[in-house]
Amino acid sequence: MSELYRDVGVVLRTYKLREADRIVVLHTEANGKVRAVAKGVRKTKSKFGARLEPMSHVRVLLYRGRELDIVSQAESVEPLTPMLSSLDRATLGMAAVEAVDQLSIEGEPDPRLYKMLVGVLRSIAEQPSALTIPAFYWKLLAAAGLSPVLDACVHCGESGTEVSLVAFDTNEGGTVCRACRSGVGISQGAITVMEEILGGRLREALSREESPLTHEVAALATRSLEHHVERRLRAVAMFEVHGT
Ligand SMILES: [Zn+2]
Repeated sequence: MSELYRDVGVVLRTYKLREADRIVVLHTEANGKVRAVAKGVRKTKSKFGARLEPMSHVRVLLYRGRELDIVSQAESVEPLTPMLSSLDRATLGMAAVEAVDQLSIEGEPDPRLYKMLVGVLRSIAEQPSALTIPAFYWKLLAAAGLSPVLDACVHCGESGTEVSLVAFDTNEGGTVCRACRSGVGISQGAITVMEEILGGRLREALSREESPLTHEVAALATRSLEHHVERRLRAVAMFEVHGT
């Protein structure tokens, strides 16, 4: 007998399997990343309708399989329509699910990641901002225990008003002073915006109009998240080699 289980999750991506079927990759609240087969989903009269598209927030009933689970039922938790109402929203939504896809791991429940993803998708649906995705990336890093140092030099530890922090070092995860300079240049404005995002003033950050400053923060966020994902993938690969 296969085991049935219920969960709620967000579809991260889907890919074709045979003629009419699709593999659906979800980040679920209780089971972490789940890969499941949705049978007949590519037929026009599929019982799943459009509920299993990327970014969909769904309640699912699944059969646990040996390699792949099987979707038995899927119902929408909230409509996806706002996400698809504009290309901008859809692009931001895809950036959010792609980031979570890179961090989510099978067999590793991460309910906080699920909550963060649902939260960012809702905020994109309601009121997208130039900093929605960069702020999400910084919050993901903070949730992983990797909040960047923004008030001191990560090399020499100098802090206070005397020291001017002129660069950001992704490897070290923080700002760097003029004497130790490494990484990429950072403006005082970008440091301020990052402090808003990570210091409980997210609303202020999100109210900022798109500008060279928001682009600077976005580029740093992307670079830092990529760095974290690469390191994490290497760690997972190491664990898989040594763990078996
Ligand atoms: Zn220094």
